[in-house]
Amino acid sequence: MIDFHCHLDLYADPHANAARCRDSGDYILSVTTSPRAWHGTLKLAIDAPRVRTALGFHPQLAHERHTELPLFEALVGEARYVGEIGLDGGPEHRAHLEVQTRCLQRILTACSRAGGRVMSIHSRGAADEVLDVLEQQPEAGISVLHWFSGTRKQLDRAVKLGCWFSVGPAMVRGLKGRQLLAAMPRNRVLTETDGPFGKGVDGPLMPGQVGPAVAACGATWQIDLTEAQDQLDSNLRTIGGLAIAEP
Ligand code: MN
Repeated sequence: MIDFHCHLDLYADPHANAARCRDSGDYILSVTTSPRAWHGTLKLAIDAPRVRTALGFHPQLAHERHTELPLFEALVGEARYVGEIGLDGGPEHRAHLEVQTRCLQRILTACSRAGGRVMSIHSRGAADEVLDVLEQQPEAGISVLHWFSGTRKQLDRAVKLGCWFSVGPAMVRGLKGRQLLAAMPRNRVLTETDGPFGKGVDGPLMPGQVGPAVAACGATWQIDLTEAQDQLDSNLRTIGGLAIAEP
């Protein structure tokens, strides 16, 4: 299974979880929310080659943590993957959209200078704002919009800009999420849990618990589960092999 956006370090027992990921054979992108979490979270995956760690700066923390931007800039050379980054325009966070935007611009500049990165991007309530910033900095790398919840029009704009998408069980539970999935190019879709924030029917999703998202891909693409997983695996190989500068 592929879980391209999971907060391994935010579960109750990160070490036990990391060990489970190592033994499961799942491919996990372990995202972080602050550059201060980078080294600790990287250590969780030290003997788990299929777990990749991403250097993050969560937009919901931007107004408190902008002093950590120099640390992000210092570490970006060590990280092939960046995330979670982005903007949050939801009601509780909209007031800080300006500082969030300045932070995101600086992060993308750092990624551009590093030769481009694969980035997992949050865009809740701010899809157009995120796309505006991405459009200004095409050298920043490959954007994977995680749990995209914008409009169909915003999705079409993201597709035109070359964005990828990671889709989870919580997203495809609703009709809107499934309609968005149907409009995504199938060679630019990956699965995710967003655990422990992403919830399944029995509570927080565990790393790699993406089954319902794979099933939704199969249903949408009108192919069976094996073929859907083959397509997702092929997408992961593609994004893993894209020509960005190696750290
Ligand atoms: Mn997340």
